[in-house]
This record gives sequence, structure tokens and C-alpha cells, in this order.
Amino acid sequence: MNHPAAPRRRPPFSVCLACQEYQVHPQELAVDVEGTSPREVDALCSPHRARSTEGACVLCGNRWPWVRLHGKSVIGACRPCVVKHLGEEAALEVEARWDAIERARRL
Ligand SMILES: [Zn+2]
Ligand SMILES: [Zn+2]
Repeated sequence: MNHPAAPRRRPPFSVCLACQEYQVHPQELAVDVEGTSPREVDALCSPHRARSTEGACVLCGNRWPWVRLHGKSVIGACRPCVVKHLGEEAALEVEARWDAIERARRL
């Protein structure tokens, strides 16, 4: 009785991060329905979570994820999947950003 509740990290019954980001339909719920897990992979639905723990593209299981949700993210996707789900424009935008970083480094 009277156990302090585990801290909530995200709202309960959140939609899977990868389903949201890559606009996958139908969108699945994250495996961590309580929203209390500190692990980022638990914010994914079970098929996306399985691929992510293997370090593969969450969308197709390709071994070489090309882009990640953010710097330290375990959620990666390959270029063909980014194009398929978000469009060529989105992929070109990512590349333009990388180019800008490269140029800034060389200065
Ligand atoms: Zn998902
Ligand atoms: Zn893929």
C-alpha cells in the first residue's frame, strides 16, 4: 500500500513514436502503455520496437538505418523508408542539413 507511483515519462496510451514520426497507418500504441518506462524503445509499438533493438531501420528492418529521430536516438530509418513515408523532399532536407553541418565544420 501507499507505494509512490512510478514517474510518468509520457502520457499513458501514447501512439508509437515511429508510427507518429513516419506517419504509419494504422498507428499502433507504444508497448509502454503506462508511460513510465525510461527506455526510448518502449515508446514504440512491438514490431517497431523489435527492429529498433536490433539497430535496424524501424520501418523495414534494413540493417543500415540512415537517419535517427535525434542524436542519441535508437529509432532509425533507412533512406528509402524516409522517402516512402515522408517524401523525397524530407530526405533532401535532411541531406541539406548534413551539408550545412559539414560546411560549418570546414570553416
Ligand atoms: Zn510503431
Ligand atoms: Zn527502411
